[in-house]
Amino acid sequence: MKIYDTAQKQLVEFQPLNEGLVKMYVCGATVQDSPHIGHLRAAVAFDVFHRYLLAQGYRLEYVRNVTDIDDKVLQKAEQFDQQWFARAYYYEREFTAAYDLLNVLPPTYEPRATGQIPEMVEFIERLLSRGHAYKATDGIYFDVKSWPKYGELTHQTSEDALLSDRDLAEGKVDPRDFALWKFAKPTEPATAIWEAPFGKGRPGWHIECSTMCLRYLGESFDIHGGGLDLRFPHHENETAQSHAAGYGFANHWMHSAWVTLAGEKMSKSIGNVLGVQAVLQKLTPLELRFALASTHYRKNIEWSEDSIHQAQTAVKVFTDFLQKSVVSSQRTENREQRIENSLGFRIKDQGSSNDNLHSATCHLLPAVSGLPAKVVDALNDDLNTSEILEWLFKTVRSSEPVTEQIVSQVRATLNILGCDPLDPHWSMGDSNSDREQKLQQTIRELVGPKLLNREQARRDKDFETADAIRLELEQLGLKLVDSPSGTEIEFES
Ligand SMILES: [Zn+2]
Repeated sequence: MKIYDTAQKQLVEFQPLNEGLVKMYVCGATVQDSPHIGHLRAAVAFDVFHRYLLAQGYRLEYVRNVTDIDDKVLQKAEQFDQQWFARAYYYEREFTAAYDLLNVLPPTYEPRATGQIPEMVEFIERLLSRGHAYKATDGIYFDVKSWPKYGELTHQTSEDALLSDRDLAEGKVDPRDFALWKFAKPTEPATAIWEAPFGKGRPGWHIECSTMCLRYLGESFDIHGGGLDLRFPHHENETAQSHAAGYGFANHWMHSAWVTLAGEKMSKSIGNVLGVQAVLQKLTPLELRFALASTHYRKNIEWSEDSIHQAQTAVKVFTDFLQKSVVSSQRTENREQRIENSLGFRIKDQGSSNDNLHSATCHLLPAVSGLPAKVVDALNDDLNTSEILEWLFKTVRSSEPVTEQIVSQVRATLNILGCDPLDPHWSMGDSNSDREQKLQQTIRELVGPKLLNREQARRDKDFETADAIRLELEQLGLKLVDSPSGTEIEFES
Protein backbone atom coordinates (compact mmCIF):
# COMPACT_ATOMS: atom_id res chain seq x y z
CA MET A 1 0.00 0.00 0.00
CA LYS A 2 1.23 3.50 -0.85
CA ILE A 3 0.66 6.39 1.54
CA TYR A 4 1.63 10.03 1.22
CA ASP A 5 4.31 10.76 3.79
CA THR A 6 4.10 14.48 4.57
CA ALA A 7 7.65 14.53 5.98
CA GLN A 8 9.11 13.02 2.81
CA LYS A 9 6.61 14.95 0.66
CA GLN A 10 5.96 11.93 -1.55
CA LEU A 11 4.08 8.67 -1.87
CA VAL A 12 5.92 5.85 -0.12
CA GLU A 13 5.35 2.11 0.05
CA PHE A 14 4.00 1.45 3.52
CA GLN A 15 5.81 -1.31 5.42
CA PRO A 16 5.18 -1.56 9.15
CA LEU A 17 8.23 -1.86 11.41
CA ASN A 18 6.84 -5.08 12.92
CA GLU A 19 5.30 -7.64 10.64
CA GLY A 20 1.53 -7.70 10.86
CA LEU A 21 1.36 -4.90 13.42
CA VAL A 22 0.76 -1.19 12.80
CA LYS A 23 1.57 1.30 15.54
CA MET A 24 -0.15 4.62 14.94
CA TYR A 25 -0.49 7.81 16.97
CA VAL A 26 -2.98 10.51 16.02
CA CYS A 27 -3.22 13.79 17.90
CA GLY A 28 -6.62 14.00 19.53
CA ALA A 29 -8.61 16.94 20.79
CA THR A 30 -7.71 19.68 23.21
CA VAL A 31 -10.94 19.40 25.16
CA GLN A 32 -11.66 23.06 25.79
CA ASP A 33 -14.90 23.40 23.77
CA SER A 34 -17.46 21.48 21.70
CA PRO A 35 -16.22 19.65 18.61
CA HIS A 36 -16.78 21.23 15.20
CA ILE A 37 -16.86 19.37 11.91
CA GLY A 38 -13.22 20.24 11.22
CA HIS A 39 -12.24 18.12 14.24
CA LEU A 40 -14.47 15.30 13.05
CA ARG A 41 -13.01 15.40 9.59
CA ALA A 42 -9.58 14.44 10.98
CA ALA A 43 -11.12 11.68 13.11
CA VAL A 44 -13.05 10.29 10.12
CA ALA A 45 -10.00 10.51 7.81
CA PHE A 46 -7.89 8.37 10.15
CA ASP A 47 -10.86 6.09 10.82
CA VAL A 48 -11.03 5.20 7.12
CA PHE A 49 -7.32 4.36 7.24
CA HIS A 50 -7.85 2.42 10.50
CA ARG A 51 -10.64 0.39 8.90
CA TYR A 52 -8.57 -0.40 5.83
CA LEU A 53 -5.58 -1.52 7.92
CA LEU A 54 -7.91 -3.86 9.84
CA ALA A 55 -9.38 -5.13 6.59
CA GLN A 56 -5.86 -5.97 5.39
CA GLY A 57 -5.39 -8.15 8.45
CA TYR A 58 -3.06 -5.92 10.45
CA ARG A 59 -3.20 -5.79 14.18
CA LEU A 60 -3.39 -2.21 15.35
CA GLU A 61 -1.92 -0.34 18.26
CA TYR A 62 -3.69 2.90 17.63
CA VAL A 63 -3.36 5.68 20.19
CA ARG A 64 -5.27 8.96 20.06
CA ASN A 65 -4.71 11.26 23.01
CA VAL A 66 -6.86 13.71 24.93
CA THR A 67 -5.17 17.01 25.77
CA ASP A 68 -6.90 17.80 29.04
CA ILE A 69 -4.38 20.29 30.44
CA ASP A 70 -3.36 23.26 28.39
CA ASP A 71 -3.32 27.08 28.47
CA LYS A 72 -6.62 27.20 26.63
CA VAL A 73 -8.38 24.76 28.96
CA LEU A 74 -7.20 26.75 31.98
CA GLN A 75 -8.16 30.12 30.47
CA LYS A 76 -11.64 28.99 29.40
CA ALA A 77 -12.31 27.35 32.76
CA GLU A 78 -11.35 30.55 34.56
CA GLN A 79 -13.47 32.65 32.22
CA PHE A 80 -16.55 30.53 32.91
CA ASP A 81 -15.75 30.02 36.59
CA GLN A 82 -15.32 26.26 36.29
CA GLN A 83 -12.81 23.73 37.53
CA TRP A 84 -10.45 23.14 34.60
CA PHE A 85 -10.67 19.34 34.95
CA ALA A 86 -14.46 19.42 35.02
CA ARG A 87 -14.49 21.50 31.84
CA ALA A 88 -12.01 19.18 30.15
CA TYR A 89 -14.00 16.10 31.11
CA TYR A 90 -17.27 17.62 29.94
CA TYR A 91 -15.90 18.33 26.46
CA GLU A 92 -14.01 15.05 26.31
CA ARG A 93 -17.40 13.38 26.63
CA GLU A 94 -18.83 15.57 23.86
CA PHE A 95 -15.97 14.54 21.58
CA THR A 96 -16.47 10.87 22.41
CA ALA A 97 -20.19 11.15 21.74
CA ALA A 98 -19.52 12.82 18.38
CA TYR A 99 -16.98 10.14 17.37
CA ASP A 100 -19.45 7.42 18.33
CA LEU A 101 -22.31 9.11 16.53
CA LEU A 102 -20.28 9.21 13.31
CA ASN A 103 -19.26 5.55 13.55
CA VAL A 104 -15.58 6.32 14.25
CA LEU A 105 -14.09 3.11 15.65
CA PRO A 106 -12.42 3.63 19.01
CA PRO A 107 -8.61 3.62 19.06
CA THR A 108 -6.80 0.92 21.02
CA TYR A 109 -6.19 3.42 23.78
CA GLU A 110 -7.02 7.05 24.48
CA PRO A 111 -4.63 8.42 27.13
CA ARG A 112 -5.22 11.75 28.86
CA ALA A 113 -2.21 14.01 29.14
CA THR A 114 -2.72 14.41 32.89
CA GLY A 115 -2.25 10.66 33.32
CA GLN A 116 1.41 10.80 32.22
CA ILE A 117 2.97 13.71 34.12
CA PRO A 118 5.80 11.66 35.78
CA GLU A 119 6.77 10.30 32.35
CA MET A 120 6.81 13.84 30.92
CA VAL A 121 9.06 14.97 33.77
CA GLU A 122 11.39 12.07 33.00
CA PHE A 123 11.43 13.00 29.30
CA ILE A 124 12.32 16.61 30.13
CA GLU A 125 15.11 15.51 32.48
CA ARG A 126 16.51 13.41 29.68
CA LEU A 127 16.53 16.44 27.34
CA LEU A 128 18.18 18.56 30.04
CA SER A 129 20.88 15.96 30.61
CA ARG A 130 21.57 15.64 26.88
CA GLY A 131 22.00 19.38 26.55
CA HIS A 132 18.87 20.04 24.48
CA ALA A 133 16.90 21.96 27.09
CA TYR A 134 17.53 24.79 29.53
CA LYS A 135 15.93 26.37 32.54
CA ALA A 136 14.60 29.92 32.24
CA THR A 137 12.76 32.10 34.74
CA ASP A 138 9.32 30.89 33.68
CA GLY A 139 9.94 27.30 32.63
CA ILE A 140 12.06 24.70 30.89
CA TYR A 141 12.60 25.28 27.17
CA PHE A 142 13.75 23.14 24.30
CA ASP A 143 16.96 24.60 22.89
CA VAL A 144 16.35 24.74 19.14
CA LYS A 145 19.94 25.89 18.40
CA SER A 146 21.20 22.65 19.94
CA TRP A 147 19.29 20.64 17.35
CA PRO A 148 20.51 21.46 13.82
CA LYS A 149 17.88 19.26 12.20
CA TYR A 150 15.08 21.49 13.51
CA GLY A 151 12.70 22.17 10.63
CA GLU A 152 13.18 18.75 9.01
CA LEU A 153 9.52 17.79 9.21
CA THR A 154 8.10 20.89 7.56
CA HIS A 155 11.14 21.61 5.38
CA GLN A 156 11.68 25.06 6.74
CA THR A 157 15.16 26.39 7.17
CA SER A 158 15.02 30.14 7.55
CA GLU A 159 14.80 31.34 11.12
CA ASP A 160 11.90 33.66 10.29
CA ALA A 161 9.78 30.84 8.94
CA LEU A 162 10.32 28.84 12.09
CA LEU A 163 9.04 31.44 14.49
CA SER A 164 6.15 30.22 16.52
CA ASP A 165 3.84 33.05 17.38
CA ARG A 166 1.74 30.87 19.68
CA ASP A 167 4.33 30.39 22.29
CA LEU A 168 6.01 33.73 22.91
CA ALA A 169 7.31 33.86 26.42
CA GLU A 170 9.82 36.08 28.15
CA GLY A 171 12.30 33.52 29.36
CA LYS A 172 13.28 32.18 25.95
CA VAL A 173 16.82 32.51 24.65
CA ASP A 174 15.86 32.01 21.01
CA PRO A 175 12.37 32.95 19.80
CA ARG A 176 12.08 29.50 18.16
CA ASP A 177 12.52 27.72 21.50
CA PHE A 178 9.39 26.20 22.97
CA ALA A 179 8.21 25.40 26.48
CA LEU A 180 8.59 21.86 27.75
CA TRP A 181 7.47 22.82 31.24
CA LYS A 182 5.74 25.94 32.52
CA PHE A 183 6.50 26.93 36.10
CA ALA A 184 3.53 27.36 38.42
CA LYS A 185 2.06 30.86 38.60
CA PRO A 186 0.36 32.13 41.75
CA THR A 187 -2.79 32.83 39.70
CA GLU A 188 -3.17 29.22 38.57
CA PRO A 189 -5.20 26.61 40.45
CA ALA A 190 -3.26 24.28 42.75
CA THR A 191 -4.83 21.28 41.01
CA ALA A 192 -2.97 22.25 37.81
CA ILE A 193 0.47 22.19 39.46
CA TRP A 194 2.73 19.12 39.61
CA GLU A 195 6.00 18.51 41.44
CA ALA A 196 9.17 18.16 39.38
CA PRO A 197 12.89 18.16 40.28
CA PHE A 198 13.38 21.27 38.13
CA GLY A 199 10.47 23.16 39.72
CA LYS A 200 6.71 22.86 40.22
CA GLY A 201 4.52 23.46 37.18
CA ARG A 202 2.76 21.80 34.28
CA PRO A 203 3.77 20.42 30.89
CA GLY A 204 3.80 22.25 27.56
CA TRP A 205 1.58 20.87 24.82
CA HIS A 206 4.22 19.32 22.56
CA ILE A 207 5.96 17.24 25.25
CA GLU A 208 2.60 15.65 26.09
CA CYS A 209 2.32 13.95 22.70
CA SER A 210 5.99 12.89 22.49
CA THR A 211 5.65 11.28 25.92
CA MET A 212 2.41 9.47 25.12
CA CYS A 213 3.94 8.14 21.87
CA LEU A 214 6.91 6.80 23.84
CA ARG A 215 4.86 5.36 26.67
CA TYR A 216 2.25 3.57 24.59
CA LEU A 217 3.97 2.83 21.28
CA GLY A 218 7.67 2.69 22.18
CA GLU A 219 10.76 4.51 20.91
CA SER A 220 9.86 3.92 17.26
CA PHE A 221 6.47 3.45 15.65
CA ASP A 222 4.94 3.48 12.19
CA ILE A 223 2.68 6.46 11.69
CA HIS A 224 2.09 9.79 13.36
CA GLY A 225 -0.99 11.58 12.14
CA GLY A 226 -3.12 14.61 12.73
CA GLY A 227 -4.83 17.55 11.09
CA LEU A 228 -2.76 19.62 8.68
CA ASP A 229 -2.73 22.62 11.02
CA LEU A 230 -0.74 20.60 13.56
CA ARG A 231 2.30 20.20 11.30
CA PHE A 232 3.83 23.38 12.62
CA PRO A 233 4.78 24.08 15.27
CA HIS A 234 3.27 21.08 17.11
CA HIS A 235 4.62 18.19 15.04
CA GLU A 236 7.90 19.90 14.19
CA ASN A 237 8.49 20.34 17.91
CA GLU A 238 7.45 16.78 18.72
CA THR A 239 9.91 15.44 16.14
CA ALA A 240 12.75 17.65 17.34
CA GLN A 241 12.45 16.78 21.02
CA SER A 242 11.88 13.05 20.44
CA HIS A 243 14.85 12.75 18.09
CA ALA A 244 16.99 14.89 20.39
CA ALA A 245 16.08 12.52 23.24
CA GLY A 246 17.52 9.70 21.16
CA TYR A 247 14.32 8.04 19.99
CA GLY A 248 13.50 6.86 16.47
CA PHE A 249 9.97 8.28 16.80
CA ALA A 250 7.55 8.28 13.84
CA ASN A 251 8.55 6.42 10.71
CA HIS A 252 5.89 8.18 8.60
CA TRP A 253 3.72 11.26 8.92
CA MET A 254 0.18 11.63 7.59
CA HIS A 255 -1.94 14.76 7.71
CA SER A 256 -5.59 15.30 6.88
CA ALA A 257 -6.81 18.48 5.22
CA TRP A 258 -9.37 21.00 6.45
CA VAL A 259 -13.03 21.75 6.20
CA THR A 260 -13.38 25.19 4.66
CA LEU A 261 -16.24 27.66 4.63
CA ALA A 262 -16.19 30.05 1.68
CA GLY A 263 -12.58 29.00 1.11
CA GLU A 264 -11.44 29.68 4.66
CA LYS A 265 -10.29 27.08 7.15
CA MET A 266 -12.83 26.44 9.87
CA SER A 267 -11.24 27.69 13.03
CA LYS A 268 -12.12 29.01 16.45
CA SER A 269 -9.93 32.05 15.98
CA ILE A 270 -11.72 33.09 12.77
CA GLY A 271 -15.09 32.31 14.31
CA ASN A 272 -16.48 30.40 11.32
CA VAL A 273 -16.89 27.07 13.08
CA LEU A 274 -19.82 24.75 12.47
CA GLY A 275 -20.65 22.72 15.54
CA VAL A 276 -21.73 19.11 15.16
CA GLN A 277 -25.19 19.71 16.58
CA ALA A 278 -25.82 22.64 14.24
CA VAL A 279 -24.81 20.57 11.23
CA LEU A 280 -27.04 17.70 12.30
CA GLN A 281 -30.07 19.97 11.95
CA LYS A 282 -29.65 19.54 8.21
CA LEU A 283 -28.06 16.11 7.82
CA THR A 284 -28.42 12.69 9.38
CA PRO A 285 -25.30 11.30 11.08
CA LEU A 286 -24.80 8.91 8.15
CA GLU A 287 -25.01 11.77 5.64
CA LEU A 288 -22.53 13.79 7.68
CA ARG A 289 -20.18 10.83 7.89
CA PHE A 290 -20.44 10.40 4.12
CA ALA A 291 -19.80 14.11 3.52
CA LEU A 292 -16.61 13.88 5.60
CA ALA A 293 -15.38 10.48 4.35
CA SER A 294 -16.05 10.81 0.64
CA THR A 295 -13.48 13.51 -0.14
CA HIS A 296 -9.86 12.41 -0.34
CA TYR A 297 -8.30 13.02 3.07
CA ARG A 298 -5.62 15.37 1.68
CA LYS A 299 -8.14 17.62 -0.07
CA ASN A 300 -10.08 20.36 1.66
CA ILE A 301 -13.83 19.90 1.95
CA GLU A 302 -15.62 23.09 1.02
CA TRP A 303 -18.75 23.01 3.18
CA SER A 304 -21.82 24.35 1.38
CA GLU A 305 -25.45 23.63 0.50
CA ASP A 306 -24.02 21.87 -2.50
CA SER A 307 -21.78 19.51 -0.55
CA ILE A 308 -24.67 18.74 1.82
CA HIS A 309 -26.95 17.97 -1.11
CA GLN A 310 -24.35 15.71 -2.75
CA ALA A 311 -23.90 13.69 0.42
CA GLN A 312 -27.67 13.30 0.82
CA THR A 313 -28.11 12.18 -2.77
CA ALA A 314 -25.30 9.64 -2.55
CA VAL A 315 -26.55 8.15 0.71
CA LYS A 316 -30.04 7.81 -0.80
CA VAL A 317 -28.67 6.07 -3.91
CA PHE A 318 -26.73 3.51 -1.82
CA THR A 319 -29.50 3.01 0.71
CA ASP A 320 -32.13 2.41 -2.00
CA PHE A 321 -29.84 0.00 -3.81
CA LEU A 322 -29.07 -2.04 -0.71
CA GLN A 323 -32.61 -2.06 0.66
CA LYS A 324 -33.86 -3.40 -2.65
CA SER A 325 -31.12 -5.97 -3.04
CA VAL A 326 -30.61 -7.21 0.47
CA VAL A 327 -34.19 -7.83 1.56
CA SER A 328 -34.37 -11.31 0.04
CA SER A 329 -30.94 -12.52 1.08
CA GLN A 330 -31.37 -11.31 4.67
CA ARG A 331 -34.18 -13.76 5.37
CA THR A 332 -31.73 -16.62 5.26
CA GLU A 333 -29.07 -15.03 7.44
CA ASN A 334 -29.04 -15.35 11.17
CA ARG A 335 -28.57 -12.27 13.32
CA GLU A 336 -24.86 -12.77 13.88
CA GLN A 337 -24.18 -13.19 10.19
CA ARG A 338 -26.20 -10.08 9.50
CA ILE A 339 -24.13 -8.03 11.95
CA GLU A 340 -20.92 -9.52 10.61
CA ASN A 341 -21.83 -8.78 7.04
CA SER A 342 -22.76 -5.24 7.79
CA LEU A 343 -19.54 -4.70 9.72
CA GLY A 344 -17.51 -6.37 7.02
CA PHE A 345 -15.68 -8.30 9.69
CA ARG A 346 -15.94 -11.72 11.25
CA ILE A 347 -16.72 -11.72 14.94
CA LYS A 348 -14.32 -13.93 16.86
CA ASP A 349 -14.89 -14.90 20.45
CA GLN A 350 -13.03 -12.35 22.57
CA GLY A 351 -12.65 -14.79 25.43
CA SER A 352 -11.37 -13.18 28.58
CA SER A 353 -8.54 -11.21 26.98
CA ASN A 354 -10.29 -7.90 27.61
CA ASP A 355 -7.42 -6.53 29.66
CA ASN A 356 -5.09 -6.94 26.72
CA LEU A 357 -4.06 -3.69 25.02
CA HIS A 358 -5.02 -5.12 21.65
CA SER A 359 -8.43 -6.36 22.60
CA ALA A 360 -10.27 -3.35 21.19
CA THR A 361 -9.25 -4.25 17.67
CA CYS A 362 -8.00 -7.80 17.82
CA HIS A 363 -11.35 -9.49 17.84
CA LEU A 364 -12.23 -8.01 14.48
CA LEU A 365 -10.95 -10.30 11.81
CA PRO A 366 -10.84 -8.90 8.32
CA ALA A 367 -12.94 -9.82 5.38
CA VAL A 368 -10.80 -7.98 2.83
CA SER A 369 -11.75 -10.57 0.26
CA GLY A 370 -15.13 -8.87 0.20
CA LEU A 371 -13.55 -5.85 -1.50
CA PRO A 372 -13.42 -5.76 -5.29
CA ALA A 373 -9.95 -5.51 -6.89
CA LYS A 374 -10.64 -2.00 -8.20
CA VAL A 375 -11.40 -0.71 -4.72
CA VAL A 376 -8.35 -2.44 -3.23
CA ASP A 377 -6.20 -0.77 -5.92
CA ALA A 378 -7.74 2.60 -5.10
CA LEU A 379 -7.25 2.14 -1.35
CA ASN A 380 -3.65 1.08 -1.93
CA ASP A 381 -3.15 4.34 -3.79
CA ASP A 382 -3.10 6.53 -0.66
CA LEU A 383 -6.82 5.89 -0.02
CA ASN A 384 -7.98 7.25 -3.36
CA THR A 385 -11.54 8.06 -2.42
CA SER A 386 -12.66 9.49 -5.73
CA GLU A 387 -11.90 6.21 -7.52
CA ILE A 388 -13.75 4.31 -4.82
CA LEU A 389 -16.82 6.51 -5.32
CA GLU A 390 -16.60 6.11 -9.06
CA TRP A 391 -16.66 2.32 -8.65
CA LEU A 392 -19.56 2.51 -6.18
CA PHE A 393 -21.77 4.69 -8.38
CA LYS A 394 -20.98 2.74 -11.51
CA THR A 395 -21.76 -0.55 -9.78
CA VAL A 396 -25.04 0.41 -8.17
CA ARG A 397 -26.29 2.08 -11.34
CA SER A 398 -25.31 -0.51 -13.89
CA SER A 399 -25.29 -3.94 -12.23
CA GLU A 400 -27.95 -6.17 -13.75
CA PRO A 401 -28.71 -8.63 -12.33
CA VAL A 402 -27.65 -7.73 -8.81
CA THR A 403 -25.84 -10.76 -7.47
CA GLU A 404 -25.12 -11.48 -3.84
CA GLN A 405 -21.44 -10.93 -4.58
CA ILE A 406 -22.06 -7.42 -5.89
CA VAL A 407 -24.13 -6.56 -2.83
CA SER A 408 -21.41 -7.77 -0.48
CA GLN A 409 -18.73 -5.88 -2.45
CA VAL A 410 -20.74 -2.65 -2.26
CA ARG A 411 -21.25 -3.11 1.46
CA ALA A 412 -17.61 -3.99 2.14
CA THR A 413 -16.54 -0.88 0.22
CA LEU A 414 -19.00 1.40 2.00
CA ASN A 415 -17.89 -0.15 5.27
CA ILE A 416 -14.31 1.01 4.72
CA LEU A 417 -15.74 4.54 4.47
CA GLY A 418 -17.78 3.79 7.61
CA CYS A 419 -20.92 4.47 5.57
CA ASP A 420 -22.75 1.17 5.04
CA PRO A 421 -26.41 2.16 5.43
CA LEU A 422 -27.20 -1.36 6.69
CA ASP A 423 -24.60 -1.18 9.44
CA PRO A 424 -26.66 -1.66 12.65
CA HIS A 425 -24.86 1.45 13.92
CA TRP A 426 -27.08 3.66 11.76
CA SER A 427 -30.32 1.90 12.58
CA MET A 428 -30.34 2.97 16.21
CA GLY A 429 -33.65 4.70 16.77
CA ASP A 430 -34.80 4.45 13.17
CA SER A 431 -38.22 3.33 12.10
CA ASN A 432 -37.19 -0.29 11.51
CA SER A 433 -35.97 -0.90 15.01
CA ASP A 434 -38.95 1.08 16.36
CA ARG A 435 -41.19 -1.31 14.48
CA GLU A 436 -39.33 -4.30 15.87
CA GLN A 437 -39.70 -2.96 19.39
CA LYS A 438 -43.43 -2.40 18.88
CA LEU A 439 -43.79 -5.92 17.57
CA GLN A 440 -41.96 -7.28 20.61
CA GLN A 441 -44.27 -5.23 22.83
CA THR A 442 -47.42 -6.51 21.14
CA ILE A 443 -46.32 -10.10 21.41
CA ARG A 444 -45.45 -9.59 25.05
CA GLU A 445 -48.97 -8.30 25.68
CA LEU A 446 -50.53 -11.23 23.88
CA VAL A 447 -48.39 -13.95 25.36
CA GLY A 448 -47.76 -12.18 28.66
CA PRO A 449 -50.49 -14.05 30.57
CA LYS A 450 -49.07 -17.35 29.35
CA LEU A 451 -45.59 -16.30 30.46
CA LEU A 452 -46.90 -15.40 33.91
CA ASN A 453 -48.56 -18.79 34.22
CA ARG A 454 -45.31 -20.45 33.21
CA GLU A 455 -43.29 -18.46 35.72
CA GLN A 456 -45.72 -19.42 38.47
CA ALA A 457 -45.44 -23.06 37.42
CA ARG A 458 -41.65 -22.84 37.53
CA ARG A 459 -41.77 -21.34 41.01
CA ASP A 460 -44.11 -24.16 42.07
CA LYS A 461 -41.64 -26.62 40.52
CA ASP A 462 -44.47 -27.79 38.27
CA PHE A 463 -42.14 -28.35 35.35
CA GLU A 464 -44.67 -30.34 33.39
CA THR A 465 -46.94 -27.29 33.04
CA ALA A 466 -43.99 -24.97 32.43
CA ASP A 467 -42.70 -27.16 29.61
CA ALA A 468 -46.15 -27.50 28.09
CA ILE A 469 -46.45 -23.70 27.86
CA ARG A 470 -42.94 -23.45 26.39
CA LEU A 471 -43.91 -26.03 23.73
CA GLU A 472 -47.13 -24.21 22.93
CA LEU A 473 -45.23 -20.95 22.32
CA GLU A 474 -42.49 -22.66 20.34
CA GLN A 475 -45.13 -23.94 17.98
CA LEU A 476 -46.00 -20.30 17.32
CA GLY A 477 -42.34 -19.64 16.44
CA LEU A 478 -41.49 -17.97 19.73
CA LYS A 479 -38.47 -19.26 21.59
CA LEU A 480 -38.10 -18.59 25.31
CA VAL A 481 -34.67 -17.86 26.72
CA ASP A 482 -34.47 -17.90 30.50
CA SER A 483 -31.86 -15.82 32.27
CA PRO A 484 -31.41 -14.49 35.80
CA SER A 485 -32.86 -11.15 34.66
CA GLY A 486 -36.02 -12.68 33.22
CA THR A 487 -37.33 -14.46 30.18
CA GLU A 488 -36.60 -13.13 26.70
CA ILE A 489 -38.67 -13.96 23.67
CA GLU A 490 -36.79 -14.73 20.49
CA PHE A 491 -38.32 -15.01 17.04
CA GLU A 492 -37.36 -18.18 15.28
CA SER A 493 -36.62 -17.75 11.62
ZN1 LIG B 1 -0.20 16.05 19.47
